[in-house]
Amino acid sequence: MDTLLIATQNRHKVGEMVELLAGLTVQVITLADVEPGWDIPETGLTFMENARQKAVAAAKKTGLLTLADDSGLAVDALQGEPGVHSKRFAPSDEQRIAKLLGLLEGVPAAQRSARFHCAVAIADPDAVLTEIEETVEGVILTAPRGEGGFGYDPVFEPVGYTLTLAEMSMEAKNAISHRGKALRRAADFLHGWLGPH
Ligand code: IMP
Repeated sequence: MDTLLIATQNRHKVGEMVELLAGLTVQVITLADVEPGWDIPETGLTFMENARQKAVAAAKKTGLLTLADDSGLAVDALQGEPGVHSKRFAPSDEQRIAKLLGLLEGVPAAQRSARFHCAVAIADPDAVLTEIEETVEGVILTAPRGEGGFGYDPVFEPVGYTLTLAEMSMEAKNAISHRGKALRRAADFLHGWLGPH
């Protein structure tokens, strides 16, 4: 069976990704299995640059077919921030949410639009094989709600829903999320790519 390396140390993302790639006839492993503690530097200016950087670095280091993602939250009232800085915005999820709500204090509901981005790159040691980017649109609430998910999920309500991403089951979140949409397209690509090999 082929092996697919998921180049992330984020265990929440791994959980979502393993679920989304479950239909593939590949053995899915993560950086924790082969390079524990190795955090690939993210120096790109865009989500896709970072995803590509991580996929190429990990594929070259391990010799494995590798999928990497870079994701984050772009808030219109903050000119797209925290964007590629979503993880580095503050030290913990709680502090990231507190900082975001502080920056948006007094901003009316109609101007609290935002979207999560997920860029996915798949590479082998020789080349980048595909690049995919997806988003989910929503609004930033004024207080957190829900215990599920991770990151900014408790303050993000997708357009057309009355629940935050943190109030949804993983299945419901994956059905509409930036990462869910991108990973389903990545799984389709991998079906085709692995098929004839
Ligand atoms: P990275 O993709 O590992 O660089 O992390 C991006 C950061 O964006 C995460 O640490 C979260 O703070 C945020 N983020 C990305 N995807 C999600 C999501 O699905 N829900 C909530 N926050 C997310």
